[in-house]
Amino acid sequence: MAQVFPRTIDLTQCPICGGEAYSEFFSAPDRLYGTPGEFAYVKCETCGSIFQNPRVMDEDLPACYPKGYYTHTAEERDPFENEASIFGGTGIRNRLRRSIAAEVMNPKSSQSTLIRFFARSRTLRQRAFHGLVVDELLPRGGDSRRALEVGCGSGELLAKLRALGWRCEGLEWDSRAAAKARERSGCPVGVGTLEEFDEPSVKYDLIVLHHVFEHLSKPIETIKALQQLLNPGGRAVLIYPNQDSLGAKMFREFWLHWDPPRHLFFTSRSGIRELASKHGFRFSARTGSRAAEVCSAISRSYRSGVKPGHATKVDGLDKLYKAVQMLMIFVGLHVGDEILVTLRKR
Ligand SMILES: [Zn+2]
Repeated sequence: MAQVFPRTIDLTQCPICGGEAYSEFFSAPDRLYGTPGEFAYVKCETCGSIFQNPRVMDEDLPACYPKGYYTHTAEERDPFENEASIFGGTGIRNRLRRSIAAEVMNPKSSQSTLIRFFARSRTLRQRAFHGLVVDELLPRGGDSRRALEVGCGSGELLAKLRALGWRCEGLEWDSRAAAKARERSGCPVGVGTLEEFDEPSVKYDLIVLHHVFEHLSKPIETIKALQQLLNPGGRAVLIYPNQDSLGAKMFREFWLHWDPPRHLFFTSRSGIRELASKHGFRFSARTGSRAAEVCSAISRSYRSGVKPGHATKVDGLDKLYKAVQMLMIFVGLHVGDEILVTLRKR
């Protein structure tokens, strides 16, 4: 009997580069939420990106997300309300934080040589801002500090960005999530998609897509929209699963971040670099191992055949996995479970 849900369409081209040659990569069921069927992924022979093909139709995608999908991150209290609470406090540690943060936000501020040296370390920069966000999202000199988060879910990251001094807006296609995000972050949150967002009244210095790009069905349209919405010199930060990670290689079709059928494509490093330069962006990227131990624990449980949604516990093996991944990144290999791409508008 033909499968009725979700309906799929056959793609004849790579959604990233338009290449027409691709080969089978793997197929897997939805181990997380149990959407019926098996979902096939192919690998583009031109740019190396991996994409779902046949792909779930746009009309059927919303039903592949369970109710309350956006709330699956823990509902912790947001620790900081504003810049004053982040950079408050006395003592040497807080003074150091303030000095390094000032150097990041205003590199021409007259800091000592030692502070300037500290501020060259990504780890220390992130720590100066209490590790609230990754380095790519810290406010920098010259920004007018207008930020947009696309796919902001229930507003956890939006609240943090606001606390760091960004003047934030959110955009979210799920109206219930948008209402939550407004309440949690105190920022304006629109309901809709990036492509519908044309002719904006303001432009942004920062646009964030945090584990969102791989869910959107028209990546080239997304990149064009980012170009339209950014100020010259502004940046889009795209954080998404790294198809060339240690996890993808080790766990193969059981890797957590394939997440069929919700993840529609995975953009290779060279694929996103090409796309960026074609649309007037300067490109940089690194890979990271945040939450790698959780990825390992869940991927291992998938491999051992547990039912979707089963709770998993991190053990020593998962911590070892993360340590190995961190070491490999440290020696210059791009094997982190996530890739953090910065596209700077020329
Ligand atoms: Zn391609």
